[in-house]
Amino acid sequence: MADNKRDYYEVLGVTKNASDDEIKKAYRVLAKKYHPDLNPGNKEAEEKFKEASEAYAVLSDADKRRKYDQFGHAAFENGGGAGASGFGFSDMGDIFSNFGDIFGDLFGMGGFGGRRSSYSDNEPQKGANVRIGVTITFEEAVFGTKKEVTFNGHDTCPECNGTGARKGTNPETCPQCKGRGQVVFQRQSLFGMTQSVQVCPECRGKGKIIKDKCPKCYGEGFISRKKTIEVNIPAGINDGQAVRLSGEGEPGTNGGPRGDILVEIRVKDSPIFQRDGMDIYSNVPLPFTKAALGGDMRISTIDGDVIYTVSPGTQTDTRIRLRGKGVPSIKNPATRGDHYVTFIVQVPTKLTKEQKELLEAYDRTLTDIQNAGDSGKNKKKK
Ligand SMILES: [Zn+2]
Ligand SMILES: [Zn+2]
Repeated sequence: MADNKRDYYEVLGVTKNASDDEIKKAYRVLAKKYHPDLNPGNKEAEEKFKEASEAYAVLSDADKRRKYDQFGHAAFENGGGAGASGFGFSDMGDIFSNFGDIFGDLFGMGGFGGRRSSYSDNEPQKGANVRIGVTITFEEAVFGTKKEVTFNGHDTCPECNGTGARKGTNPETCPQCKGRGQVVFQRQSLFGMTQSVQVCPECRGKGKIIKDKCPKCYGEGFISRKKTIEVNIPAGINDGQAVRLSGEGEPGTNGGPRGDILVEIRVKDSPIFQRDGMDIYSNVPLPFTKAALGGDMRISTIDGDVIYTVSPGTQTDTRIRLRGKGVPSIKNPATRGDHYVTFIVQVPTKLTKEQKELLEAYDRTLTDIQNAGDSGKNKKKK
C-alpha cells in the first residue's frame, strides 16, 4: 500500500463525474501500461499497477464509490473487515474478481501468471492511515495550536504478537493455496480458456490458517484501543490542509510499519476576518464625519486593536494595507502576509435635534455653493 494515498479519481485520471465506462477505460489504459507482466522487476510500475487496481476496485463499485465520495479513503481505512488492513479481504476479493473480467479480454489466458506473491497478504504491509478531522478557530489557524484528539485505533495484540495464534502455537501454511492467499480458477469462455485469480476460500486470503486462536484477539492479531494524541497544529495552516503524524496510525501486518495519522484541519469562519492565503481582509465601518474630517480609528487585527489615522476625505470602499498583520507562512512563521482593511462609510439613520441643526447648517453651505454655481451657469447662458 502506498504511504501517501492519492485520490482515486486522480489515480485513474478521471473526473469525479466520470461514467462507469470512462473509469473502466481509464483503468484499462493504466493496467496495460503498468501490468507487472509487461514490466518485470519494475517496482514503480508494480506500485502504480496496485494503486490503479485499488482505485478501480472502489470506483467501479457503485456502493463503494458512493462511500468513497462521501468519506474519502477513510471509508475503507477505519473499521474495515480486516481490522487494521486498509483493504479488508472482502475488498481484495472484489479486486480480483474485477481483474478476472478485465484481464480476460486484455491478456487472454494466463493473465495471472506467476506474480501472485506481490498480492499476497503474507508480505509485510504498512498499516492503514487514520484520518481524523479537527475543527479550529480562525485565530488558532493563524497562530497555531495544540489539540487533543481521541480515536478508536488498534495495536498489535501483545498476547500473540500479532500472529493471531494462541501463545506457544503458530499459524500454519494454508494447504489449499500453499500460503499464496489466492487460487487460480480456469474457465472456458467464448475466447478460449481464461484464468482468474480469487481469494483462497480456505484461508480467506491470509495464506495461513490458525488452528488455535489467540483468546485475547480472537485470532485477529490486533486489539482495539481508544487512543488520545496531542497534535501540534502549525501557525499558518489553512482550511483543508492536514497534519501528518508518521507511524502513529494503524499497525502493519506481518511485521510491516504502522500507518500514519492524518489530521485534517477545518477552520471556522471568523465573524470579522476573511482570509486569502497569507492575507487577511476585513471591512471597517467609518462614520461619515470621520470620513470627511479624518481622524483616528480603532481597527481590529489578528494581533489585537491598532489605531489608524484616516485621512480627511476618505471615500467608502477605500482599502488600506496593514503590513505584516496577516497570516504567518506555514514554512517560515517569521514571514507574514498583510491585512487589508476596507472602510465602509456609514450614514446615520437617526439624528438628535442638535445634530440635525448642525447638518442643516452644513447643508445650507452646500446649497449656497450649488446656487452660486447655478446662477453662474445661468448668467453664462443668458
Ligand atoms: Zn492475539
Ligand atoms: Zn489459503
